[in-house]
Amino acid sequence: MGTKCGDRAIVLGGSMAGLFAARVLSDAYTHVTVVDRDTLTGATEPRKGVPQGRQVHGLLASGHHVIEELFPGITDDMVRAGAHLGDLAGNLRWYVNGVRLRRTRTGVQALTSSRPFLERHVRERVQALPNVEFLERRDILRLCTTPGHDTVTGAVVARQDDGGAEETLTADLVVDTTGRGSRTPAWLAEFGYGQVEEERQKIGLGYTTCHYRMRSDPYRGDTAINIMASPALPRGAIAAKVDGDRTVVTAYGILGDHPPADHEGFLGFIKSVAAPDIYDALQDAEPLHTPVAYRFPVSLRRRYERLPRFPRGLLVMGDAVCSLNPSYAQGMTVAALETRTLRRHLRSGRAPQPLAFQRDIARDAVDRVWNLMTGSDRAYPGVEGERHLMDRAGHSYVTLVQRAGTRDPHVAAAFLRVIALLEPEESLLRPTILLRVLKHSLGTAPAYLRALIPGTAERGARTP
Ligand SMILES: Cc1cc2nc3c(=O)[nH]c(=O)nc-3n(C[C@H](O)[C@H](O)[C@H](O)COP(=O)(O)OP(=O)(O)OC[C@H]3O[C@@H](n4cnc5c(N)ncnc54)[C@H](O)[C@@H]3O)c2cc1C
Repeated sequence: MGTKCGDRAIVLGGSMAGLFAARVLSDAYTHVTVVDRDTLTGATEPRKGVPQGRQVHGLLASGHHVIEELFPGITDDMVRAGAHLGDLAGNLRWYVNGVRLRRTRTGVQALTSSRPFLERHVRERVQALPNVEFLERRDILRLCTTPGHDTVTGAVVARQDDGGAEETLTADLVVDTTGRGSRTPAWLAEFGYGQVEEERQKIGLGYTTCHYRMRSDPYRGDTAINIMASPALPRGAIAAKVDGDRTVVTAYGILGDHPPADHEGFLGFIKSVAAPDIYDALQDAEPLHTPVAYRFPVSLRRRYERLPRFPRGLLVMGDAVCSLNPSYAQGMTVAALETRTLRRHLRSGRAPQPLAFQRDIARDAVDRVWNLMTGSDRAYPGVEGERHLMDRAGHSYVTLVQRAGTRDPHVAAAFLRVIALLEPEESLLRPTILLRVLKHSLGTAPAYLRALIPGTAERGARTP
């Protein structure tokens, strides 16, 4: 990028969203500073500032594509270092309503690793950039602004290693990526910008995770098994091969039905999900630690784009904007997609316009995912929220798609491409998919109905 947007940008929070942002900002600002309360350099284990890092973290294919775009060659580096790469429907084993989706080659790669491993690889790439510096073990205390609070001019941080001594960092641009606990809503209210509108979707999700060493390979070449929760049985489990020759196993349940965090209870919960594969695999496995629980009561979206005014020099990204039900594995991908929008806004060589940026990430990265997630959550009877006619129609159609996907590899692949955020939901209504879904749904329907759909009459005639 030729023209610089400014001299210094500060990124508050050096987790996934902060690292992605720093990568893109390094092209547009002379200096970029990433501030975090944790020790980031050399961190290989889950960090205090990212407690969810102990739980399984799936990387959706669309997020993986952006990461590879930002850091060319990182996939190969990670695989060499112990991550696993498989085909989305060829090596990931998916169960919906207890029935396995058809195995097929999609050509879409799925990378599995632990969250700290992924973060470390991304962080090392960012740390290698000559104009990016990391300020670690700093607690971010507050923003600095011009006297009328029109412009954010930096942040005040406290040095943990220096008895909490305060340090003022000045910048042309401050990007808040401090996650769900971000204090930007409180700071904006204090500065006179009003309350940021929030949307919430209660889900009462409980996760429990344990890492295992497998004594045999129960996967037969697969890299992961995902037994998805469904409205009929709202419990799920995921097992994935990750770095360090380990397998991560996570079980989850909603609305207070949480997997226990003792070995026996954890295994008992896994035994109760809709398919036996993971439970069977664990019979011959060595647990590497006591299971770790995480509670996620509610998904949260902050509508910064709806504020009438916003200070210059401040952007908000990642979980600080939208913290999603993790069972759909969308959070890191949304952060990555927002980075594409940031790159577009910086391309002009001028400082980004905050409200325009917040509007664009809402439209380009958050809207669809939030709607997909809240819509899917509302398929569960106990989850609060109004069900519109379109919701009900959507849930019924998705059930038909899933059922067809257990028989038809084309439908399975189309469904998984939507889940991976590579295609919009509307792609499931394309005639080629719609006809296949109808064909499988009408397999047992009366002959006169089957005759309306090409290819169903013959198959149906053979059905006993
Ligand atoms: C249980 C669980 C499972 C998940 N599973 C998945 C998954 O499978 N796939 C997926 O894509 N996403 C998943 N997510 C979401 C994912 O973890 C986040 O979307 C992702 O980490 C991006 O978040 P972020 O960088 O915006 O914030 P965070 O990861 O929360 O990081 C915030 C950073 O800011 C720092 N910080 C915060 N406050 C301060 C302060 N005052 N001073 C200094 N530093 C501060 C923290 O130390 C931290 O480094 C999951 C989330 C949860 C809760």
